[in-house]
Amino acid sequence: ATELEKVEAVIKKAHDAGKPFRFWGAPDTKTTWSRFAAMGVDFINTDKPAEAAAYLETLDARKFELKSPISVYKPKFDFDKNTRPKNIILMIGDGNGLSQISSAVFANRGELTITQLKNIGLVKTSSFDDLVTDSAAGATAMATGEKTNNRAIGTDKNGQDLKNLTEIFAEKGYLNGIITTDFVTGATPSSFFAHVVERDDSEAILEDLNKSKVDFFLSAGASDYAKIEKEFVQKDISEFNDFENRTAIFLSESGLADASVRGDQFPEHVKKVLQNLESQDKPYFLMIEAAKIDKNGHTNNASGIVEEMLDFDKTIAEVLKVADQNKNTLVVITADHETSGFAIMQGDLEKGQIEGGFLTHDHTGTMIPLFSYGPGSELFNGVYENTEVF
Ligand code: MG
Ligand code: ZN
Repeated sequence: ATELEKVEAVIKKAHDAGKPFRFWGAPDTKTTWSRFAAMGVDFINTDKPAEAAAYLETLDARKFELKSPISVYKPKFDFDKNTRPKNIILMIGDGNGLSQISSAVFANRGELTITQLKNIGLVKTSSFDDLVTDSAAGATAMATGEKTNNRAIGTDKNGQDLKNLTEIFAEKGYLNGIITTDFVTGATPSSFFAHVVERDDSEAILEDLNKSKVDFFLSAGASDYAKIEKEFVQKDISEFNDFENRTAIFLSESGLADASVRGDQFPEHVKKVLQNLESQDKPYFLMIEAAKIDKNGHTNNASGIVEEMLDFDKTIAEVLKVADQNKNTLVVITADHETSGFAIMQGDLEKGQIEGGFLTHDHTGTMIPLFSYGPGSELFNGVYENTEVF
């Protein structure tokens, strides 16, 4: 603080005398460049001018400030640890690494609903054929318990079909639901019902959806409906009150709008789905994906990452409220991989500001966190492969 005062005073003195200010011999780092820029230093001294220019030009796009914090739900932890769970909800934040979560924690002034949880693990995400996984192999590992090649959906390294969780749960009399902010043919959701060697083969994925054990889904992309209308009845969320028919609920015609535009549409839809499920006697398995944390990582959009993570946290709050009411639901919250090598460069906890930095536009191989709640959640502590989630 004392040194900052001196630097600010000398910059002011130069400016008052009508002179530009240049600081000689300062550290030549990103943090220094952005601090000096914010303090009104007129020339930044650097031996890396191209890197410094690229860094400063993207500074505004890498900053995010949350004006009004979201509310944090405090779970009750009064479920019976010695029983087996009746329902299972697997929540996947696509591309949701520890920095993605941390940035939303800082933006929300230090706390989120997800950070209330106590059973935590770290998950190794490599696929069969690559140190760095894609979403297809990442979700297949959790849906089937097998490592496969990148791009493969529900098939093994030789292209053979693998039995997935919805098929297993259907045999046990469960209702199966798939919920995503992506298209239902996205790599993450389709790994839970389809068997194709190439994730872009949406036609084959929709055919597999028709043949699958999925009772309902909620996703973007009503434009996909024509290929599944013989099997699924399309409903508005307000008409979704029973499971007499297989049901399709769409959040949008094509891709879903960003969280900053769509408001609380996703957590509110999830809340209504859970009300319907809770009115049934059957146990249920739900896979809920927050797909757009990854998409905003690929485009290096810091605001998009934080806003989608906050939307995911609101959805987590709705899920935990239901888990607290019925006391018999295991909730597992994780990711398939990290996207973009996202890091928190600087920020301000009181103002809910963060400055993000990006290493790449692709996925990275870093371990990702897993949070769990409810009966059986203590089994998820430790460090393990993504196949163990299955
Ligand atoms: Mg995905
Ligand atoms: Zn991705």
